[in-house]
Amino acid sequence: MVNILTFIETSPSGEPHESAAELLGAAALLGDPAAVTVLAPGTGPGLVERLGQLGAKQVILAESTQVRAELTSPYTAALVAAVELLAPGVVLAAHSLRGREVAARLAARLKAGICTDAVAVRGEAGKIVAVHSVLGGSYTTEAVTDPSEGRPVILTLRPGAVADRAPAVTPEVTKVTPPRDDRPAAVIEAVHEIPADSSRPDLRRAAKVVSGGRGLGSKENFVLVGELADALGAAVGASRAAVDAGYVPPDAQVGQTGTSVSPQLYIALGISGAIQHRAGMQTATTIVAINKDEDAPIFDIADFGIVGDVSTVVPQCIEALSGRRR
Ligand code: FAD
Repeated sequence: MVNILTFIETSPSGEPHESAAELLGAAALLGDPAAVTVLAPGTGPGLVERLGQLGAKQVILAESTQVRAELTSPYTAALVAAVELLAPGVVLAAHSLRGREVAARLAARLKAGICTDAVAVRGEAGKIVAVHSVLGGSYTTEAVTDPSEGRPVILTLRPGAVADRAPAVTPEVTKVTPPRDDRPAAVIEAVHEIPADSSRPDLRRAAKVVSGGRGLGSKENFVLVGELADALGAAVGASRAAVDAGYVPPDAQVGQTGTSVSPQLYIALGISGAIQHRAGMQTATTIVAINKDEDAPIFDIADFGIVGDVSTVVPQCIEALSGRRR
């Protein structure tokens, strides 16, 4: 089977990011999952075992003091070394800030093709098919590449898009020391950890998202969105109109100019379903809409719809959910 190399991002202490599970899950759909990760010396105890639990048959560990000093070059150097070692058919990275940048640099370094922001991947007759949601989410396109043509296909995956997970294995570990890269690179001058100000899941990766729109009517009423999210263990999102009205901070915005999400469940409260909003959420597995206008476009893409006022329907939903827990 062809090796599928995943680029695993880690926290400063060497914990794998949440994207690791889905990258390795996607890799297992295409071939033998392998992982490459770069650690600062003395970090990442237990990382190899964790990557094995997530399905990495091979782990390429690169130790580099440069990770504390430079933004992307140590990662690109480690990926180049891992590609030379494993000759993978595909390199998968998360469509995160770092994943995108490293994937682009790797593609340039290897003169390989790159497909970004895929929402699904599959193998078909020896070829790799990457599925994209394009033009504001109005179309789904497929990019077909042939990994047998000598260079790996480089793909970035939208966080939350792939639900498949790989079975646990005991990985084979190879340590590499990538050559120091002296090309000009963005330099890290200081690192400040920002503690999460919410116990709710991260919007980008949450399995469930409850979003509110202008239909909530006020910042005070927007509290309902948070209450339903908490009853479901979901992240809170919003339409741009809700953000512009000051109901919620801008980092909650879902859509073309906000965050793209692909949760298992997306609940839209008082959101009309403008194309720019749909662009960021319509790959969700199940969409539920609550809107008082039965002709609202959000119902065109909703799997379940409730025509009603959010201020009466949402408290009933919360009550029903808490009744189930009792
Ligand atoms: P509205 O369109 O005003 O809809 C409110 C909805 O709430 C209506 O359907 C109404 O029937 C319903 N409603 C009202 N009261 C109640 C009630 N009491 N109970 C139940 N339902 C009620 N938008 C985004 O969301 N994300 C983006 O990233 C984004 N990017 C954009 C980029 C560009 C370049 C442009 C031009 C626009 C962008 N927009 C974006 C804005 C987008 O076009 C819409 O204006 C916006 O999504 C509308 O938000 P909304 O659905 O909350 O508000």
